[in-house]
Amino acid sequence: MKKLDGMLIASFLTTIFYSATYPFIHKEIMASVTDTIVASNQIVDCVSIVVLGSLWNKKSGKLFKYYPVFCINQQPVSITFECPYCNYDVTLDWDDLDVPEYWGDDWGEVECPHCKKTVLLGDYDMN
Ligand SMILES: [Zn+2]
Repeated sequence: MKKLDGMLIASFLTTIFYSATYPFIHKEIMASVTDTIVASNQIVDCVSIVVLGSLWNKKSGKLFKYYPVFCINQQPVSITFECPYCNYDVTLDWDDLDVPEYWGDDWGEVECPHCKKTVLLGDYDMN
């Protein structure tokens, strides 16, 4: 069984609504136009359903364009922290770091470029 999609459900609900209201619509139409007009309208309806349904089934891939949701992939650039010795905001390039394979592991130590002291990195947060 094919997966149900929104268009199929909308079409089904429209059909249910039209079927439920048809007796009233038919009564109003018959009261205001001739039998010939009603018959002609039914023929046009039937032909249109066959032609347009067939066209839609064959060409819907070209007629209906899909606009996929996409994700923006991010790549780490650098880390920033405040040095506990000199209180400078330090930024180190990602390529200069010894990044652990799993980021939850120990990040080890880095050298503060301002005071040259060794700083043990703690937990990280994402910007
Ligand atoms: Zn420092």
